Amino acid sequence: MSGPGSITGARDECGVFAVYARGEEVAKLCFYGLYALQHRGQESAGIAVSNGTNILVSKEMGLVNQVFSESRLAGMDGHLGIGHVRYSTTGSSTWDNAQPAFKVTPSGSGLALAHNGNLVNTADLARGLGAQGDRCTTDSELLATLLARDADTSLEEAIATTCAQVRGAFSFVVMDEGAIFGARDPHGVRPLVIGRLAGGWVLASETAALDIVGAHLVREVEPGEIVAIDSHGLRSRRYADATPHFCLFEYVYVARPDHRTAETTVYAARRRMGALLAGEAPVDADLVIPVPDSGTAAAGGYAEGSGIPYAEGLTKNRYVGRTFIQPTQSLRQLGIRLKLNPLRDVIAGRRLVVVDDSVVRGNTSRQLVAMLREAGAAEVHLRITAPPIRNPCFYGIDMATRAELIGAGLTVEEIRDFVGADSLAFLSLDALVSTTRRPRASLCRACFDGEYPIPVPGEQRDAGKDVLSRMGPAPA
Ligand code: SF4
Repeated sequence: MSGPGSITGARDECGVFAVYARGEEVAKLCFYGLYALQHRGQESAGIAVSNGTNILVSKEMGLVNQVFSESRLAGMDGHLGIGHVRYSTTGSSTWDNAQPAFKVTPSGSGLALAHNGNLVNTADLARGLGAQGDRCTTDSELLATLLARDADTSLEEAIATTCAQVRGAFSFVVMDEGAIFGARDPHGVRPLVIGRLAGGWVLASETAALDIVGAHLVREVEPGEIVAIDSHGLRSRRYADATPHFCLFEYVYVARPDHRTAETTVYAARRRMGALLAGEAPVDADLVIPVPDSGTAAAGGYAEGSGIPYAEGLTKNRYVGRTFIQPTQSLRQLGIRLKLNPLRDVIAGRRLVVVDDSVVRGNTSRQLVAMLREAGAAEVHLRITAPPIRNPCFYGIDMATRAELIGAGLTVEEIRDFVGADSLAFLSLDALVSTTRRPRASLCRACFDGEYPIPVPGEQRDAGKDVLSRMGPAPA
């Protein structure tokens, strides 16, 4: 699988962005911030801005640059704003579920929320809200409703109250007419970073969104922390002790390679994954090729570690993204060819090491191997930069149900047989963890080892779904 958008199964989740900057065109900053986060969600994009008096929200289905034109942004004046790109992990893919979610508090002020993650106690929270809860179609909508209910005195207090009630993975940004706020769950499962602009502050899912607007990285929002940014600057408060469990899969697949954590860049971590994989699973071969893009850095690491030459053997259609034009049946049969095309003159007659980041359902890996053989590859040795995914994610990555996960039911040899590779090897969990430069205990590894850091209600776990049935159908 490789982003942006997935090639082999898991889907990205959401990206959030917020900015407070007097004298700047904040709608444009939000646009560019979201543009850098497009890989985290391609279904819808939205921006909310405030001029200190009114909040204006604009959102639509589609990619960021399909949704926002110069003229649409020109009508959005203000000095603070938030933005969101969405891939639906709860609720269906409709305009209503696009974010930012907007609510009016009982006293008539507004708030807009952009959320990344999945809550696990939505049923309880919705029950507590009564009829209002029944109308919520996503966990983000539910969060916004809870915040609006409690925001009469101060939105900051409402965030602290709400964060203490909700369970699950959440990194959100929220605004009222005069301030922006950011919060992370006590486990810090999903990322959120703080950046400094010459004239203000930025919050974003990944550091690439800071770079694109000229902000420099200050630090991460800490797990269990709320930051508030207004005309007085930035202030911080803690609503819970931090028990960090950052998503290991962000390093493998979700984040852009240029994302920086305190310990490493994702690029450097992926290089190390490839190098360690070369040591753990060597093979006699002629060429190492990546499945672009998220396999690219790791393939370089594998080539370096093994001494086998690196080459680009697959061309990716970079403009695929998410399309709303359904392919015809004959086009659908092309499957992976809509996204990747082999370079025959590179691979014909060669024994290939093919480096990819994960095998989710196995169907696309199978198509990939068949396509490489058709293009003349003499041997195809698949090397995966993570262990088999054996468990579903309940914290915001739409992988599959347990029944659909090929790693949940089959041995490595059975998976190899299914995908049709000459050999198949997965990176060990210990090696993968070491590439992050973080302690094992500070990472969520649940999709690999089944140790869920945040308890998941039985009915969700049993179904292997990351969606509560009352919140609408999961995306196909
Ligand atoms: S279960 Fe996997 S994908 Fe989900 S948060 Fe944990 S490590 Fe990330």
